[in-house]
Amino acid sequence: MTQAIPGWRAVYSGKVRDLYVPEDGADDRMLVVASDRVSAFDHVLEPGIPGKGELLTTLSLWWFDQLAGADGGRRVANHLVDGAVVPEEVSTRGMIVHRLEMLPVECVVRGYLTGSGWAEYSATGTVCGISLPDGLSNGDRLPAPIFTPAYKAPLGEHDENITFSQTEELVGADRAAQLRDLSLEIYARAEKTARSRGVILADTKFEFGILDGELTLGDEVLTSDSSRYWDAAAWASGTTPSERMASFDKQIVRDWLAANWAHAPGGSAQRASDAQSGRGEDKTGTPPQLPAEIVARTTARYRELVDLITATIDR
Ligand code: ATP
Ligand code: MG
Repeated sequence: MTQAIPGWRAVYSGKVRDLYVPEDGADDRMLVVASDRVSAFDHVLEPGIPGKGELLTTLSLWWFDQLAGADGGRRVANHLVDGAVVPEEVSTRGMIVHRLEMLPVECVVRGYLTGSGWAEYSATGTVCGISLPDGLSNGDRLPAPIFTPAYKAPLGEHDENITFSQTEELVGADRAAQLRDLSLEIYARAEKTARSRGVILADTKFEFGILDGELTLGDEVLTSDSSRYWDAAAWASGTTPSERMASFDKQIVRDWLAANWAHAPGGSAQRASDAQSGRGEDKTGTPPQLPAEIVARTTARYRELVDLITATIDR
């Protein structure tokens, strides 16, 4: 059941977030509420991760602000409505946003090789059709970050990796180039900021839409649901993949599920978009309950990430 919020009408529940529109019928803005639900391999798992909605919202808001210029870079327009007051029932988990005309492309940027990228590279030497040097290992840094878009399938269908020319067909050549360049720019800025705080931003996914003709960053941004974050010190000193990729994201949940659910795919066999959304191969049946220990560890790691990233430090 979606939470009742005076003045707002619930219109949609995604796997993780609930969307509301104003009760007065205005359709140019929405209230996006992040829940504590966690999804992996396209399933919402039980129980949720206490505090997750709040932690993700804190991270999104912090990064929107950085990208609006607080990090010293140029302003990236985002969908937040300036000065809008989030209802107190969801004050820590909600964002009031302009309704965008969303583009049907998930803009994935990878700076490191892992997950579905690693699986594809192991088989073909490429990631989403982009050739990479020989001899890379799981978790290695790429020579340069790459843009690996996915088609944002209509509700209920799986996202699919697409090539750059398919992206051009979907949104036009100019828009596709703009999406690629802006995604790579944002990744570079965020990667640098994260690095200064001891964290590796391995890969991430952005969603853009159009507002008054302007390309605008929507959805959540640089959260631990939409990104892979690793401990930089562990990555530098680790020797095994699991030591190197000590993650601050829901890889903990994916790994547990992969090891404890017959229907889950093997950890490294995930497809591209599941890096970001938890979407993967088709699975059937009901996933097992997450043990309390996995839930607690995930909450603790999400919290640790928020503390590291948003800490005020001299730069
Ligand atoms: P699904 O809808 O398949 O469950 P999901 O799990 O990604 O996808 P959520 O992330 O929970 O869904 O819900 C957020 C939805 O709102 C996404 O479909 C996202 O593209 C959309 N969205 C985000 N920001 C905006 C915006 N400013 N205007 C319009 N739609 C938006
Ligand atoms: Mg989503």
